[in-house]
Amino acid sequence: MLVKKILTIFKNFPKRHSAAILIGLLLLISISILGNFDFSNQKKDADLYKKINIEILQEEDQSEPIYTTRETLIKRNDSLFTILREFGVKSENIINLINSKNSSLLSKIEVGDKIKVNLDENGEIRDLFYIDDFQSGVKAERSKSTYKINKFKQELEKVKVFKHVVIKDSMYMSGLKEGIPESVLMDVVYINGWDIDFTHDIRLGDTYSLIYEEILVDGEKVLDGDVLITEFNNKGKKITSVRFDLENGNSEYFSIDGINVKKAFLRSPVKLSYISSKYNLKRKHPILHTIRSHNGVDYAASKGSPVRATGDGTISFAEYNGGCGNEIKIKHSEDYTTRYCHLDKYHQRAKVGRKVKQGQTIGYVGSTGLATGPHLHYEFHVNGRHTDPLKVKFPNATPIGKSEKIQFNKVAYDIANQLNNYKDIYLIEEAPSG
Ligand SMILES: [Zn+2]
Repeated sequence: MLVKKILTIFKNFPKRHSAAILIGLLLLISISILGNFDFSNQKKDADLYKKINIEILQEEDQSEPIYTTRETLIKRNDSLFTILREFGVKSENIINLINSKNSSLLSKIEVGDKIKVNLDENGEIRDLFYIDDFQSGVKAERSKSTYKINKFKQELEKVKVFKHVVIKDSMYMSGLKEGIPESVLMDVVYINGWDIDFTHDIRLGDTYSLIYEEILVDGEKVLDGDVLITEFNNKGKKITSVRFDLENGNSEYFSIDGINVKKAFLRSPVKLSYISSKYNLKRKHPILHTIRSHNGVDYAASKGSPVRATGDGTISFAEYNGGCGNEIKIKHSEDYTTRYCHLDKYHQRAKVGRKVKQGQTIGYVGSTGLATGPHLHYEFHVNGRHTDPLKVKFPNATPIGKSEKIQFNKVAYDIANQLNNYKDIYLIEEAPSG
């Protein structure tokens, strides 16, 4: 079992590393054989120098009888009978199965579920699994001439997977090339997107490492689990984020010091947009053609694109207001206010006095007021003063509370240690080949 686990973890290393690790394992095993070996017994000498096959290591139990495994996903119009016949099972054997006690559990098979059977050397069913999700189903086990049929629930096993990526093109492409699943990469982007702008901040040669979980059932991966830690080396700066399960039931990511990676404000109030005009205190106004400071940032986007509240807060203003057109103001705290102009329409829930959450749609991009085309004019005010939203250092979302800090420190220290250990192994492996 131990060997299998180690194999699972290291199967995610590039091939040549796996080979090196297997050789390492073989050495370890040889050493332990040596350790237990009674040297007075010369006969065993021959065994000692026998080559150990790598395949043998992968087999969990060598003494099991020979059988073949067949499996299929249930399609429309399939029945248990037709599936088993297709597997080459004789009708008498199927009838034995169907006549066994509890066989009604197998009567309602559903399209998309899985049937897996192990057939003995005579092509008879040794056991059969009807798997209705990755974890549970019905199991039939041969016992003399009938079958014992019962529901089963398999235990989930989590294994940690380590990856180290040197960015050679984009963070995403380089990650895919190292075999990181897409869903995991999306999480990495989300976790680090608050600190790193993946289109502008990444330099070739930047690196990142992470540990994420794979969920296994019966030794096979069924799901990619959570990202436990990521560490970015971005332009010489190290950014570490650790997952922590809070007492309130949520899981969030924090820096090693317990600072929430989430910021109190989103970088941009419109998702699919580009900045058409920056904050500029001496800009010629495109319509008025006079020098007027541009106190915000313009996001060009198609008419009707959703405008998001960049932070939690309360709507303090929502009506037509001169050059700003349809305007919304959100008060986030005593210190912070944001302002959104030229909206085509308001979201139906965007009313003065209503609370909004970060990312919630408050209205839609338009060109009401003084605007040459559809865009969002966005302002960020700190203590009543205009501030450049692209340059202001956003405050962080809630940090780890005092009561959870001790537990967090333990978790963070532990997983950071694991990451460093994996990295040491990986980089030693890497070194000889450059
Ligand atoms: Zn503007």
